[in-house]
Amino acid sequence: MSIKANIEKINKTVKQYNAHLIAVSKTKPADQIMEAYEAGIVDFGENKVQELVEKEQQLPKDIRWHMIGHLQRNKVKYIAPFVYLIHGVDSLRLLKEIDKQGKRLDRVISCLLQVHIAEEESKFGFSIEELNLLFEDPDFTSMRNIVIKGFMGMATFTEDPDQIKKEFMGLQELFKSFSSLHSDKSNVDMKILSMGMSGDFEIALESGSNMVRVGSSIFGSRNY
Ligand SMILES: *Cc1c(COP(=O)(O)O)cnc(C)c1O
Repeated sequence: MSIKANIEKINKTVKQYNAHLIAVSKTKPADQIMEAYEAGIVDFGENKVQELVEKEQQLPKDIRWHMIGHLQRNKVKYIAPFVYLIHGVDSLRLLKEIDKQGKRLDRVISCLLQVHIAEEESKFGFSIEELNLLFEDPDFTSMRNIVIKGFMGMATFTEDPDQIKKEFMGLQELFKSFSSLHSDKSNVDMKILSMGMSGDFEIALESGSNMVRVGSSIFGSRNY
């Protein structure tokens, strides 16, 4: 199937849930991104800073670029001028750097906090305890050049749909509780729950996701 046909098929499901599709274009060339753009996609996700910067320079200026991968603090400055949403914020130190770059550019940078929901050991993502500490930390509550737009999570890499569903439902619960508990904070505006990739976006949508990040089901498998 063509990129356009893939997008139409996926968007049919995504729209039923009033959710939003991010086309994950990492490793894919500009001409394939243009094919998706011409099929109506304006949101693209990348996971490497250098690739993101190069593509931003080459491609239409109304594209909204999402940084979905792990972000190193020393690279924030390269994407801070244009990035639309940073999905993988996983520490206060990283958030401080994003806030600092936002201040320098007079921009408020939208961020999602990555929450660790998978069974697998991973270095990335906040635990619930860490999230609770973060939201009460004065260093966090005083930041004015970031806004927390919601959470991002990745389920365990497994064939078991019940396991995936359980993890996504858990994050939905957490999202709802943080949305109501912290609605008074000026740098918190919980609107986005980013869950679901090619293999599990349907389960994610059933579990309350309103933003799915889909790569290979749109562009085909990646050759690294
Ligand atoms: C690569 C990637 C995706 C998309 O993965 P597919 O399985 O190709 O849809 C989604 N989210 C993140 C964080 C990724 O790194």
